[in-house]
Amino acid sequence: MSSGADFCTEVAGGRLTSLERPFLRAGFTVTFPLPGVVQICAAPELVTGKTEPAALRGRLLLSAGIHGDETAPVEMLTKLLSVLKKHPHQLAVDLLVVVGNLCAIAQQKRYIDVDLNRLFLPECSRSADADASGNTCPQFPEQLRAKQLMQIVQLFFSGNGAKWHLDLHSAIRDSVYPAFAIVPGQRDAVWLDWLGSAGIAAVILNTLPSASFSSYTASYCGALSCTAELGRVSAMGHNKLSRFSVTFTCIASLLRCGALKPGITEGAMPVLFRVKHEFIKKTAAFAFSFDDSTCNFTQFAPGTLIATDINTIYRVGSVTEYVLFPNAGVRVGLRAGLMVVAESQDRAVS
Ligand SMILES: [Zn+2]
Repeated sequence: MSSGADFCTEVAGGRLTSLERPFLRAGFTVTFPLPGVVQICAAPELVTGKTEPAALRGRLLLSAGIHGDETAPVEMLTKLLSVLKKHPHQLAVDLLVVVGNLCAIAQQKRYIDVDLNRLFLPECSRSADADASGNTCPQFPEQLRAKQLMQIVQLFFSGNGAKWHLDLHSAIRDSVYPAFAIVPGQRDAVWLDWLGSAGIAAVILNTLPSASFSSYTASYCGALSCTAELGRVSAMGHNKLSRFSVTFTCIASLLRCGALKPGITEGAMPVLFRVKHEFIKKTAAFAFSFDDSTCNFTQFAPGTLIATDINTIYRVGSVTEYVLFPNAGVRVGLRAGLMVVAESQDRAVS
């Protein structure tokens, strides 16, 4: 029996085989389609006699480590799996676990060549094919990983039951809201309510196309999905997971009951934001008007100068705006941050 720390090392390394025996014994089918990926599904005989046919059993994708330096989500995933494998009979959903960028996790980097969370588009998959055929455009391991993960999640989510995807991250900087989420696709009140009860205090609704993992599962698999940001990046073993115990409890409950039951924080609908502006760094001259210590969701009054690039400036419009993920250090051509506006101005923290 491995200790908690050993199991965390195994999960971070994508070695998930210790889950096989307990779930097989409990009558599940367990497959490992890729390193760092395990699928645990109810065998047909396991659901016989229950009210829902196997095809209608809820499906949950839990992913972490899509960014290799975000260790808190890997620790939370480890904790969820270590509790679950002691009581495997309790698993009430078909479960797909993905530990995202294994090489980047091993090197404690956000990514090796390209940001994995910008590659979940069918076009990216096609360009990876082109590379394999010997074309000149470069094929990075992250492109191949994204392509393989898209294929696996498409298959996993091909049934008719409820579909959920929780992609667990942590942010580079502090945040006014310690736990928040980006929710792609159409607004779903039950999903938002559940996220609120799971301690997600703020949600950015994003209906714009995006190449993130959660956007892919929402757009192409019909899942209720989110990119959940849990606290700030720190080294493995130095995360204060107790800050996110409400989130942990709600996810553990979803695994056991197979439905979005409200958690212990009742009536905690998140504060809702929507994207007003996306900064694309056009030239090396791009700069924000504030320093690197500025928190996510810092608010700026109408008219405030926010960013300058070689021929453009950005000022806040007619209502208060909040900055998210500001990072002037990204490569030219990439997203340097977002400005969001509150849907419910009165509830946003000022
Ligand atoms: Zn991340």
